[in-house]
Amino acid sequence: MSKNGREFYRSFYLSYIDTIMSISPLKERLESPSALFSIEFFPPKSDAAATQLLSVAKELTAYVPDFASITYGAGGSSRTRTLKYAHKLKENCGYTVLPHLTCVGHSIKELEEIIEEFREAGLSQIMALRGDPPSGETDFKPHPNGLSHANELVQLIRKVYPECTIGVAGYPETHAEAPSAEVDLLHLKRKVDNGADFITTQLFFDNAVYFDFVKRARQAGITVPIIPGLMCAKSLKQAKRFCKMGGTSLPAEFEARLLAASENSGASKPIGIDWMYAQALELLERGAPGLHLYILNQAGPAVALMKKLHAAGFYQR
Ligand SMILES: Cc1cc2nc3c(=O)[nH]c(=O)nc-3n(C[C@H](O)[C@H](O)[C@H](O)COP(=O)(O)OP(=O)(O)OC[C@H]3O[C@@H](n4cnc5c(N)ncnc54)[C@H](O)[C@@H]3O)c2cc1C
Repeated sequence: MSKNGREFYRSFYLSYIDTIMSISPLKERLESPSALFSIEFFPPKSDAAATQLLSVAKELTAYVPDFASITYGAGGSSRTRTLKYAHKLKENCGYTVLPHLTCVGHSIKELEEIIEEFREAGLSQIMALRGDPPSGETDFKPHPNGLSHANELVQLIRKVYPECTIGVAGYPETHAEAPSAEVDLLHLKRKVDNGADFITTQLFFDNAVYFDFVKRARQAGITVPIIPGLMCAKSLKQAKRFCKMGGTSLPAEFEARLLAASENSGASKPIGIDWMYAQALELLERGAPGLHLYILNQAGPAVALMKKLHAAGFYQR
C-alpha cells in the first residue's frame, strides 16, 4: 500500500475511534425501549459524608443504574466539588455520571470553561439548569456577563460541546416563578428546541400530575423522554418540607397515612417506601421511560424500592 493510502486508512481509523469514544452511553440508553434507572447525589461537605456517599454509590451499583447525577450547589461554590465527585463516581464506582451545571454566579466565559472541564473529564452528559438563588436571596439574579435561563445554557453547551447529551428540568406542577402552566411549558419546549435530549421532572407524590404533564408536553410538541423524579418521604414533616421546597402537592391519602404513622415512631419510613413503590409500579406499567431517584445520599429507600421492583419483574438486568 502506498504511503498516501496508509495515511488515509490511519486517519479514517482514528476518526472512527473518536466517533465511538464520543458516543454517550446515555444517548444510546435514551433511544432504547427498556426503562432507565438513575440516582441523584449531592456533593458531600465533610470527609465522613464523602465516605458515606461512596459507600452508598458502591452499594447501589448492584442495581445497575444507567447513570448517577451529581448536583451543582448555589453561587458557583460547587464547581470543584461537583467535578470531584463526578470523577469519583465514575472512576471508583464505574458510573456513567451526569454532572449538573447551573447559571448561578457564572459568566459565560466561566460556564464555557466548566463545560470544557466536564468534557476533559470524559463526562459526556450534562444536566443544564438555571439554578436557584444562593441561600438568603429570593430572586434569581443573573451574573452581569452570564445567562438568565436554562435554555440559554443548553444552547451554550451545544455550541461548546456539540456531542454532549443534555438533560433539563421539568415541572409537572409548574415552576414557582412561571405565570401559568402553559407559559412554563413553552419555556420547557424552548429548552428542548435548543438541544435538550431528555427531561427529568421535579419530584411529585401524585402520579396523575405526571401523566397530565406528559400529555400536555406531547400536545405542545415536546417529544423527548420525560423521566419521572421520585423521592421517598420518611415522615410527614419531611414530606411537607419537600412539598414546600418543590411546589409539590401532597395527596390527602398519603398525608393521612403518614399522620397516622407519626404517632408510632419508626412506622412512617415503610409508608414512604410503600408509597414510592406504588408510584414507581404504576409509572413503569403505564410506560414511563424510567425512574430517577432523589436519594439524598442514602441507600436504604432505593434498595428497598429496587428489591420490590425486581420481585415485580422490573429491572432484572
Ligand atoms: C431534575 C432537577 C435537578 C435540579 N438540580 C439542581 C442543581 O443541581 N442545582 C441547583 O441549584 N438547582 C437544581 N434544581 C433546581 C432548579 O435549579 C430550580 O428549580 C430553578 O429555580 C429553575 O431551574 P430551571 O433549570 O428549571 O430554570 P429555567 O428553565 O430557566 O426556568 C426558570 C423559570 O423561568 C421561566 N423561563 C424559562 N426560560 C425562560 C425564558 N427564556 N424567558 C422567560 N422565562 C423563562 C420558567 O418558566 C421558570 O419559571 C434542579 C431541579 C430539577 C427538577
